[in-house]
Amino acid sequence: RFIALEGGEGSGKSTQTRLLAHALAERGIDVDTTREPGGTPGAEAVRALLLEPPGAGWGPEAEALLFAAARADHVAQRIRPALAAGRWVICDRFVDSSRAYQGGAGGVGDDAVRALHAIGSGGLRPDLTILITVDPAEAAARIQRRDEGAADAIGGRDAAYHAAVAFAFARMAVDDPRGFAVIDGNGPAEDVLARVLAEVDRRLCH
Ligand code: C5P
Repeated sequence: RFIALEGGEGSGKSTQTRLLAHALAERGIDVDTTREPGGTPGAEAVRALLLEPPGAGWGPEAEALLFAAARADHVAQRIRPALAAGRWVICDRFVDSSRAYQGGAGGVGDDAVRALHAIGSGGLRPDLTILITVDPAEAAARIQRRDEGAADAIGGRDAAYHAAVAFAFARMAVDDPRGFAVIDGNGPAEDVLARVLAEVDRRLCH
């Protein structure tokens, strides 16, 4: 099984990725937890390039190509082998982040991002994508609280960009209700995890 967690900055994806993996491992499921951009040495090197200090100035097209290259390596070297070995893979962000950020907010377009994914990663789709949504004010408060947040984000983006990301994610979920579970990410992490687990149980564990 392949599960991706998606959402904007401060949505709690990374925390939920960790908590979900832990909950599944407690049930005896063999889980590999990973993230994008990153997940292999090559893809982590691309991540470092992408997160260069604000002003490094990648355009959205260059970003889309770098994300696609990192994902191609991640899929080939890590995700497909783990799935082939019967493990569950839980990934913090996957191709739908590229569709929302570069494709939607960046203006590259959904068809172009999907074409890059088809070339780079054979069009691999998660069995389930968990889209975590939070109120913008809650997300902003969480980003302010975590001090490494600023160092680990692509800078120079305004509120309109992040609103476009949220809109693109929401539209993907509406277009593919079987592939997406939309989870309310407001409130304590344990409460969010309970909602995530309920969807995973309902959709994948039978
Ligand atoms: O998930 P995480 O917050 O670690 O992502 C690192 C940075 O990369 C964030 O600033 C995120 O918005 C950005 N990103 C992006 N396009 C993607 C995936 C992530 O701009 N396709």
